[in-house]
Amino acid sequence: MTSIVVLGSTNMDLVAYVAEAPARGETVTGREFRTVPGGKGANQAVAAARAGADVAMIGAVGADDFGVRLRDALEHSGVDTDLLRTAEGPSGTAHIVVDDDGGNAIVVVPGANGTLTSLDHGDEALIATADVLLLQLELPLSAVTAGAVTARRLGVRTVLTPAPAQPLPDELLAATDLLVPNEHEAAALTGVADPHAAAEALLRKVPEVVVTLGAAGSLYAARGAAPVTVPAPRVRAVDTTAAGDTFVGALAVALGEGRPVPQALAWASAAAALSVQRPGASSSMPYRAEIDAALAPSNDHPLE
Ligand code: AMP
Repeated sequence: MTSIVVLGSTNMDLVAYVAEAPARGETVTGREFRTVPGGKGANQAVAAARAGADVAMIGAVGADDFGVRLRDALEHSGVDTDLLRTAEGPSGTAHIVVDDDGGNAIVVVPGANGTLTSLDHGDEALIATADVLLLQLELPLSAVTAGAVTARRLGVRTVLTPAPAQPLPDELLAATDLLVPNEHEAAALTGVADPHAAAEALLRKVPEVVVTLGAAGSLYAARGAAPVTVPAPRVRAVDTTAAGDTFVGALAVALGEGRPVPQALAWASAAAALSVQRPGASSSMPYRAEIDAALAPSNDHPLE
């Protein structure tokens, strides 16, 4: 089985469903409220576990009720939490507004995630067992960089989701094998709006880039090869929260299994398309059998 370690965040998502998100200074009445375990790191961990990998998570939850629920949720999805710390203070929270078009707006308060500033020998020993290390930017950059540098030294493939967008230290980029920004993050990192041109610019820093393009699919670029565009399946999106994390989790599994990139991207796209048709973050992520079924040639109505 492919072995994946995620170094990343855990947040409790506090989700309000509204017809239309409020403008500044405005108050609107929501239709529904849910608390859903999330955080980019935990979401990618759950996505990868459901997609069929052996997954362990390095991170931190708070010493509160949310922390207990976040750990339980990961374990329930089969994610190893032995190296998930319990820090003093509150767990991370994400305050999410989902509108009727399936769009979202999010405020993240890091809480316990902010306490994870460095790694220890136990983390290093765990990373050494992985085929792929998944990283995002919801932990302090010092820990993310240490994780990538450690993985690189150990010969473990590193996949970085540069979200939330922020300038990246050269040391982190130098230890990144595959960078997976969405189009906004690609533009923020390069100052170039066109995703093709942004991917081209990012290839000066990392050997491989996948830019996700929402309903338009994704774009893969590698040094010395022609870019590949993979369309997303056409589906009715009800909630795009964590679509990118579902995509990255499934992509890591497919790449860890040695599939060629275009095939891996199609599989990841199928997983993400399934997730956008259901409400929630990790709760919306598909299992391996569902992803395979959506892509099966005998399925006349894939993903619907
Ligand atoms: P994003 O983070 O919005 O770029 O989305 C990540 C990935 O999720 C995309 O590359 C698509 O594969 C998938 N995705 C997002 N939105 C949709 C949608 N409306 N329909 C189908 N797939 C989607």
